[in-house]
Amino acid sequence: MTELLDHFLSRISAQGPISLADYMSTCLLHPDLGYYTNRDPLGARGDFTTAPEISQMFGEVIGLGLAQAWMDQGTPERFVMAELGPGRGSLMADILRATRRVPGFHAAAEVHLVEASPALRQAQSARLAGYMPTWHDHCADLPDDVPLYLVANEFFDALPIRQFQRAQDGWSEILVTAAEGRLTRARATPAPLDALAHRLDDTIEGDLVETCAPAHAMAAEIGSRIAKNGGVGLIIDYGDWRSQGDTFQALRRHEYADPLEMPGHADLTAHVDFEAIATAASPAKYTRLTGQGLFLERLGITARAQALAKQLTGTPLENHIAAHRRLTHPEEMGTLFKVLGIYPEGAPIPAGLSE
Ligand code: SAH
Repeated sequence: MTELLDHFLSRISAQGPISLADYMSTCLLHPDLGYYTNRDPLGARGDFTTAPEISQMFGEVIGLGLAQAWMDQGTPERFVMAELGPGRGSLMADILRATRRVPGFHAAAEVHLVEASPALRQAQSARLAGYMPTWHDHCADLPDDVPLYLVANEFFDALPIRQFQRAQDGWSEILVTAAEGRLTRARATPAPLDALAHRLDDTIEGDLVETCAPAHAMAAEIGSRIAKNGGVGLIIDYGDWRSQGDTFQALRRHEYADPLEMPGHADLTAHVDFEAIATAASPAKYTRLTGQGLFLERLGITARAQALAKQLTGTPLENHIAAHRRLTHPEEMGTLFKVLGIYPEGAPIPAGLSE
């Protein structure tokens, strides 16, 4: 038994079933026992690997794309360079290294990080020591008086979701309850729900949809800043234009697991509903949802890969070629992962994306 399992069993026995969002956020961010609170879950010895940990090229080409957007928008002399959920700080470190020679970019950039995990804040602090980042608990705390250039890779998938099953003309929430000392799912009595009124048209009885209120709130914070002050937001994650079906999943030591088992010891995620993020970011504009492979190709990742390959031989060269394939190939991360750009009315579309 994990300690968080005890915590849930006693809470459910005292108060009744809890929402998946409540379960997910407690598992990930409980102040003592949360999955992200005390550990670095990334890398071969952790539970999962992300694009910036696979290769420096990911952050490098994204950095140059962001610098292009900064120039397209008139090289503002002060701006926020922000990341949501920066993990080990690798993506931000690669963005900043690649843009070092862009005249004026570093002098204008203030680095801001939104991170909930004390353990990962420490890793970010070590990695980004020269850049004096400022940390925040919430997107709402990001400065709102200067342009915002923001990246979020595999961040939105970690935000807590709720699940609803379509009844005849209402929705029955999927809850977490307990039976015989284990956690299991239960269904609440169906009820109408305003937030899902638009899904009555594209679902039938029995279908399952997911909602993510925090994603909505954060996209609204980002969109209002970009619409008002300029900048660009790049949201990179797995998911689709519209959520459909059960995508709640657990990953432990690179294997899928039952999300209700071993709470606090597995990474919990759900697919991102990009439509919900795009519409919440209004009045900022949003780009077409684009596969990660196509996006990185358009940003020149293959030329960068060839340049780096010149200095390599043997196993390092083989690993480098495999990393390029892993980031871009349709059978690997190339189409599963998608990119949504947020940008202000009147500005050019961010590099690598289309209308
Ligand atoms: N972007 C990194 C790490 C992805 S893991 C990479 O690509 O490697 C998810 C990150 O989001 C972790 O840093 C985690 O601690 C952070 N995180 C998860 N939920 C959060 C929340 N609600 N608020 C702030 N940070 C959160």
